[in-house]
Amino acid sequence: MPPEPTTPDVTETIDALLARYVAGSLPAPARVLVESHLALKPENRALAAGLEALAGAELDAGLPVALGSPRQRIDSIVTGPIAPGAPARKSATGIFPAPLRDFIGFDVEDVPWRTKLPGFKEYDIGEIDGCHVTLFWIRAGRKIPAHTHEGTELSLVLDGAFTDRTGRYGRGDISLADDTIDHRPIADKDRPCIGFAVTDGPLRLTGPLHQRLSDILGV
Ligand code: ZN
Repeated sequence: MPPEPTTPDVTETIDALLARYVAGSLPAPARVLVESHLALKPENRALAAGLEALAGAELDAGLPVALGSPRQRIDSIVTGPIAPGAPARKSATGIFPAPLRDFIGFDVEDVPWRTKLPGFKEYDIGEIDGCHVTLFWIRAGRKIPAHTHEGTELSLVLDGAFTDRTGRYGRGDISLADDTIDHRPIADKDRPCIGFAVTDGPLRLTGPLHQRLSDILGV
């Protein structure tokens, strides 16, 4: 893909999201989400190649020395802690990648889940840097009520997988949705789906009323 001549729009593509990450312009929770994605997908060659190109463009533009080069930042995410000397927290399961664990302070076994709907649990981390930040847990096979978004919704899958009209998302994948996307995510049948979500606007339920009701009840 040729380089974008204009400022990338985060609402459009993962590439744009990564470009904003490399440029250092993402809000903190979205940065953690991208870093967690990169920690889980170091083997993703296409992604690495794209980042390298982006980092090269960014290097040409010139960055403050104190930040390090984007390439160094990307390498540090893939290979180890970003902050040298940062203590590595121990985890029984290791489901959460290090950037997320460091951000939240614990791993999946210590999440104080609250049931929002039957078969759907959430941990509301709060409003951070203009974003609403949550962890979610979806029972195996459960449908999430159809909805669209009044902002951008970034979801990083940490365990299990879900599928919506845009594709299937497994561990390490980012689903990106906005007001152009109306979706009804469904967790895989064999295990619950756990993820990290960053949104900058509310959701709006869509679809026929009978479907909404059955999806809210999880039946
Ligand atoms: Zn959504």
